[in-house]
Amino acid sequence: MSSNNTFQIAVLPGDGIGHEVMAPCLEILEEAARRVGGLSFRFKSHQAGAINYRDHGVALPKSALDCARKADAILLGAMGWPAIRYPDGTEIAPQLDLRFEFGLFAGVRPVRTLPSMPAILADKRAAHLDFIVIRESTEGLFASRGKGVVTDNREARDTMVITRDVCEPLFDFAFRLARQRKARGGKGIVACVDKANVFASFAFFRKVFDERAKAFPDIRADHAYVDATALDMVRRPWALDVLVTENMFGDILSDLGAGLMGGMGFAPSADIGAEHAVFQPCHGTAPDIAGHGKANPTAMILSGAMMLDWLGEKHGLPEALRAADLVRAAVDHAFEGGLKPFEIGGSDGTAEITRHILAAMDRKALEVA
Ligand code: ATP
Repeated sequence: MSSNNTFQIAVLPGDGIGHEVMAPCLEILEEAARRVGGLSFRFKSHQAGAINYRDHGVALPKSALDCARKADAILLGAMGWPAIRYPDGTEIAPQLDLRFEFGLFAGVRPVRTLPSMPAILADKRAAHLDFIVIRESTEGLFASRGKGVVTDNREARDTMVITRDVCEPLFDFAFRLARQRKARGGKGIVACVDKANVFASFAFFRKVFDERAKAFPDIRADHAYVDATALDMVRRPWALDVLVTENMFGDILSDLGAGLMGGMGFAPSADIGAEHAVFQPCHGTAPDIAGHGKANPTAMILSGAMMLDWLGEKHGLPEALRAADLVRAAVDHAFEGGLKPFEIGGSDGTAEITRHILAAMDRKALEVA
């Protein structure tokens, strides 16, 4: 951050709808900063992803990686394309490389329902969900990415890795987040989601969780098996607060969370490490709708709000926290007004949704100022 509170932001729109949702996000972030005052951005955009790999032979150019390393934060759209693969047949996914490169161990996936959305679950309490899945993002089963072994066309093995070095900061992050939420009326519960009854790796995961829990006596430390958690996310999701889990389990549960919000286009995320952080929607490049103006930019915009929160906390800058609140308030207000993206059977496309959120800022700017 420069002395006049200007943040350098590395922007990686990626492929497919990544570009379509990034432009509205940048526009809304700039507008929020302008209205709150006292902060600004310098966005530096870089090509990276599957199309870049096809055209230039590299998915994440060194210049993009260097820019990301030097930036105050990284915004990422979505990367990958079905027909473009590495020679071994695996997906082009530099977003995963960034998590490993920068040690972004905490994948924060909020499940917060927006107003006036069609009911996903019959119970009225499901209309107001507010819980968080924290997906460990640098090891677990994904540690085997690129290292799996197939023997004699008869047997395949991938190995899961759980380490104390990653688990300790991960659990501390989860407990601190629950504490922050409790200060604002949250439940003050962290549940360790695992399969400790079957696997040594998960028994160790839980053991480290219990050790770290002792440092946070004000927060309730619960245990839950992943299968029971999937059931609870549908049966009584309003009772959940902070869930912390392994990489693969978190990948699956966070998509279930996106389903509870209305779809992938509503689900923001942040991948946070000790120094760096990447903010991107949970969704992929959506080749089925790319180029049609139908992408819902809400997840990307809310990921931008998470970036403002992180920058505000890290640099002790209340203006950034206020700008985050303004973005969320404007999104809520726009949906209260009856926005209905294509994704949920409506006819509001990317441009329409963006226009409504920008208009809602007029109203909400006064309230959060
Ligand atoms: P990845 O493996 O890269 O995460 P994916 O194959 O799981 O991607 P997505 O690209 O996330 O899939 O798309 C899943 C479904 O959700 C598709 O039908 C897609 O059109 C829809 N979808 C994803 N993002 C959005 C969005 N922002 N707006 C509207 N629909 C979306």
